[in-house]
Amino acid sequence: MDCPCGVRLIGAGEDALVLEAQQHLATAHAELEYTRAEILFMARPTR
Ligand SMILES: [Zn+2]
Repeated sequence: MDCPCGVRLIGAGEDALVLEAQQHLATAHAELEYTRAEILFMARPTR
């Protein structure tokens, strides 16, 4: 998925992607909170 801030997050599977996104959000967007459903909603296949 592409974060609105421009960072590309790539995970090997749904769980890895959610984890990766949550880590990115925690460090880069500490003021924002996304649920797993919201992250998956933003996620787009990148191939
Ligand atoms: Zn970001």
